[in-house]
Amino acid sequence: MAGTGKFFVGGNWKCNGTKDSISKLISDLNSAKLEADVDVVVAPPFVYIDQVKNSLSDRIEIAAQNSWIGKGGAFTGEISVEQLKDIGCKWVVLGHSERRHVIGEDDEFIGKKAGYALSQNLGVIACIGELLKEREEGKTFDVCFQQMKAFADAVPSWDNVVIAYEPVWAIGTGKVATPQQAQEVHIAVREWLKKNVSAEVASKTRIIYGGSVNGSNCAELAKQEDIDGFLVGGASLKGPEFATIVNSVT
Ligand code: PGA
Repeated sequence: MAGTGKFFVGGNWKCNGTKDSISKLISDLNSAKLEADVDVVVAPPFVYIDQVKNSLSDRIEIAAQNSWIGKGGAFTGEISVEQLKDIGCKWVVLGHSERRHVIGEDDEFIGKKAGYALSQNLGVIACIGELLKEREEGKTFDVCFQQMKAFADAVPSWDNVVIAYEPVWAIGTGKVATPQQAQEVHIAVREWLKKNVSAEVASKTRIIYGGSVNGSNCAELAKQEDIDGFLVGGASLKGPEFATIVNSVT
């Protein structure tokens, strides 16, 4: 931790689960022992948010995996920030690499969503990260800084933002970044915030790591000065393993 507040661990369930499997996951999470000093958030698929909200302990907050760029209305297939707040969401994950690279969302569109969500007091887990090719070409910082700039241009305030650095080559691949690789980008992003936003925002904003985090590699990563938590995909679908990751706070 860089002294930036509480450790933050998010579980991104992505497009996984059924009513039954989610009910088992909820019961595992409800019976898990979670360190008190950690913010814990899970992001279920939209259709199960209500089920989760009704049976998951209030200890864990709920995030949506996407939101619309503005007020709701005639936008088929979209979900508005107001609707997410209405069913009890406190956060939304935006800029995830699957939305950027599989669905095709660009920086400006993602920035607009983040700006609108924050203007309505919905917290934003703002994801950034480079492709393998970009890392190999030495463009990791350029890519991350460009994605940061798009968020910075659009957000009204950083109070309710958690940045998730997720190198795309590490997501769902089992190929986790080394603690040094992650720390190097986290500190660079913090420096970027200091230079381009403010020293206060740089020191307060949590920067969490995502990409093949599991119960075995979380402790080493958590020791890094600028890693303030995790965004977890696959391993968040297993309650006990997710609890181990939450409890890796140092
Ligand atoms: P993973 O996913 O933990 O399965 O690599 C992380 C994420 O996409 O947030």
